[in-house]
Amino acid sequence: MAKALRPYTRYSTLLIVFVAAMLAPGPVHPGEISLREVASGLNAEILYDPFLELGRIQYGGYAVRFAVGSDEMRTDDGTVLSVTPPTSNDGSVYIDENTATQLKAIWRPTATDRDEPFVSAIVIDPGHGGRDPGTIGRHVIDGEELVLREKDIVLDVSLHLRDLLRESFDDRRIILTREDDRYLPLDTRTDMANDLPLGENEYVVYVSVHANASLNTRATGFEAWFIPPEQRRTLIDPEDLDSDRRRIHAILNSMREEEVSVHSAMLGNELLSGLEQTVGARSPNRGLKQENWAVVRNALMPSVLVELGFVTNPEEAQLLSDPEYLHKLAVGLYTGIRQFVDVFETSNSDGT
Ligand SMILES: [Zn+2]
Repeated sequence: MAKALRPYTRYSTLLIVFVAAMLAPGPVHPGEISLREVASGLNAEILYDPFLELGRIQYGGYAVRFAVGSDEMRTDDGTVLSVTPPTSNDGSVYIDENTATQLKAIWRPTATDRDEPFVSAIVIDPGHGGRDPGTIGRHVIDGEELVLREKDIVLDVSLHLRDLLRESFDDRRIILTREDDRYLPLDTRTDMANDLPLGENEYVVYVSVHANASLNTRATGFEAWFIPPEQRRTLIDPEDLDSDRRRIHAILNSMREEEVSVHSAMLGNELLSGLEQTVGARSPNRGLKQENWAVVRNALMPSVLVELGFVTNPEEAQLLSDPEYLHKLAVGLYTGIRQFVDVFETSNSDGT
């Protein structure tokens, strides 16, 4: 009996192998290569949504966006590549040789050593997003219902801010943690800033943008928060130090804490005075405050959380629903960041 079965078993094994080969992901067109392979050569990871057929190749905060079937790929800092449209098969994405070459050419999540202090990246973090709407303001104004979601307000302002920063800082990386209505865990947001490769004398700053709510519907105004200096964090990885310096790691780390804290306060004050210039006539400056917010605590660089105004205050809610007002908020933040960068780079330079 066993003998009689054997040819049949062999045939079915062959059939299974054949069917498996048909189903296995592989290039759609001859000569295409797997995007995953190209990305791993760049030391990058791929985030790909097979349903939307959209994705990004990323490392640190640097990313290139692609869409299956689209002849454009875009970097976060605005470079557009004209490519042969990527194809997909069974959840894997394939590109042609020419696209791979272009990707390698523009891929630059690299650090540059500098003689003078240089803010090489500015990370803007629009709070909340996707299934997390943040605070919500509901009002009835002149018989009409006004519903404001924090996630929408902060995204609008951050997109404007990004454009303003890119326009004036074409030699720096301007990165948004999200550019659309998506949910992002807090760690992912700060990792995008923490993982940026930095050269000697290169710095990153981090600004998380939020809107406020209060049970007191009369509460109004904008404010900024930074981490209290007494908050203990590991800002210097002992592994990054040579053995001599590793012995004084605790001292070096607390010096860095002090420095980051001073710079965060400086950034917070500049943001507030920027906002005061553009919206101060309509919204009060509530000042710079200290709190151990997780969203900035894990950002290991000068970082500030800014609250643009109260969605729970009926008058301020009306302002926050006005695109022109949101634009003014963006200009205010932009002015503050510019001022911070100028002061930071000149005051930390040795003047040579
Ligand atoms: Zn928030």
